[in-house]
Order: sequence, then C-alpha cells, then structure tokens
Amino acid sequence: MKIWINGILVDKDAATVSVLDHGLLYGDGVFEGIRVYAGRIFELDAHLDRLVASARTIRLEVPYGRAAIAQAMADTVKANGLREGYIRLLVTRGAGTLGLDADKCSGGSVIIIADQVALYPQEMYDNGMAVIIARTRRIAPNMLDPSAKSLNYLNNILAKVEAQDAGVAEAIMLNADGDVAEATGDNIFIVRGGEVVTPPPAAGILIGVTRCVVMNLCGQLGIPLAERRVAPEDLYAADECFLTGTAAEVIAVTKVDGRTIGTGRPGPVTQKLLKAFRELTGPRTKQGPPAAHENRKHCSSQPHG
Ligand code: PMP
Repeated sequence: MKIWINGILVDKDAATVSVLDHGLLYGDGVFEGIRVYAGRIFELDAHLDRLVASARTIRLEVPYGRAAIAQAMADTVKANGLREGYIRLLVTRGAGTLGLDADKCSGGSVIIIADQVALYPQEMYDNGMAVIIARTRRIAPNMLDPSAKSLNYLNNILAKVEAQDAGVAEAIMLNADGDVAEATGDNIFIVRGGEVVTPPPAAGILIGVTRCVVMNLCGQLGIPLAERRVAPEDLYAADECFLTGTAAEVIAVTKVDGRTIGTGRPGPVTQKLLKAFRELTGPRTKQGPPAAHENRKHCSSQPHG
C-alpha cells in the first residue's frame, strides 16, 4: 500500500508521523472520508469544501490548495490501483511540544490513505440493521462545532462501544437537548406518511456529503422532504429509517432499542433512494456530469458544504 504524506508517496511502513504530532497527542486536526467509484472521486468539491471549513473552524491552515489536494488524492488512488475504494484525507497540526500551544506546532501535515471499503455486511443492506440509542450524547455546537469534521471522535467511539455492548452494529446519538442528531459516523433519516425527515444542521450534526446527495435525490424523485427536529419517539414511530454516509452509503435501520421500525424490513422509500444512489455511483455512464446547481442546493447552501 502506498500512502501520500506531505507531498510524497511512500510505502505504508515508511509513512510515519512524529509522536509529538498534535493530531496524535490531542486529536488536533481534521479529516475527510471520500469514495472512489469507477475510478472517479465522488463529490470531490463537497468534500474539499467541508475540509476547508473544518480546518477554518479549528484555526488550522491547510498547507496545500484544493487542486493540489485533488491531484494528490488522484495520485494515491492510482498508485494503489483502485477503481472502487475509500480515501482518508487527514490534516493534523503537525509536531509540536507536549503543551497545547498550537503556535509551536510544525503546521498542517497532510496524509492521504486509499484503501478498499466494506463497513457493514451485505446481509444488513438486504435486511436492514438493528441500532440502539446511545447514552453518550453528541458534542453540543456551543462546545465544539459538530459540523467540523475534527479528529476528536471520542464521544462517537464511546457510543459505538455502547452499540457493541448491546450486540448491534450502530448507535444513534442524541444532542444535548435529547433530540436525535445522527449515528456515530452516519446521518439519519426517517420516513413517516411518505415524507422523508432528517434532523437539521442546528441539531448538531456533521453535515454529511451523502446526506446532501440523498436530499437532492428526494427532490429529483419527487419525494417530500423536510429538515426538522426528530425526537426519539419519532424514530420509534417511523415507517422507515435509514442511515447515510460515505462508507455506509444508504442502509436501512429496522430495529431501534429492540423495537421494530415499520414492517421490520427495508421500506419502499429507502429502497427507492438506495436504487437511485446506486445508479448515481454505479458505472461511469450513469454517473454523468455534476447535477445542475438547483439539484445540488442541499450540498451547496450549507455553511459547511
Ligand atoms: N456523521 C458523522 C459523525 C460522520 O463521521 C460522518 C461520516 N464521516 C457522517 C455523519 C456522514 O457524512 P458523509 O456522508 O460526508 O460521509
């Protein structure tokens, strides 16, 4: 495996960072998870927008421009011979001292890893997955803006451990107000009475790129859509529920806290959106050029892209 690190592609074993890197010492950095479909980087601009916004939020300067990062990702994908895969792009604050002082850090250190991806087993895509609502809450926007994709994932990890303790693969996290925010690494949607509902950015979510794509698909397919507060009761009472994420894509949730959602099978709206998503990300002929601006409003109108 070849890894791109600060301008050079090196073998995995040679791709090392300092133990004094504040990314390691303090989770001081930002990242992106990006898909490669049929040799093309999916939603490149949306991911670069979010990376830049995340870096700005944590006052970290990205030492390469967008074009250079895009080229480096393409080079890394090529060097690893990938047509389908997943890119992890990280920017850390670099090596510093043992103290918190950001000024003593070497500055943005960029790492690009490209690999295969398989988040959940196929069986879960076919039959839906069981989740719990975690006790661990999502970090509140007045603490650390959750729309910045920082390297601090401890509360998400603890929620995922809760899921594993409960024998399920994923956990839904509530925000400090007790509303549904998102899953540990995916956004959440519910369907009720034919309407698709997802918590708004103000619920303290990471504004997922896949979330944007799926919201735009709702528009294109004429499926009613709302960004609205979702209470745990709304989730339990939903006809359908699904998660979206770069690695997960679109996956149905059929059980929450042991309660069956809807019929207990992936529902018709979820299946319709999954099919449309697969068409978008499938063979090159179907992917086509980026959709017109009016079809992309959910990706471009958000403060953090
Ligand atoms: N929420 C969180 C907390 C995440 O980490 C992610 C994915 N990394 C998402 C949602 C989904 O975002 P995206 O669709 O951009 O992968």
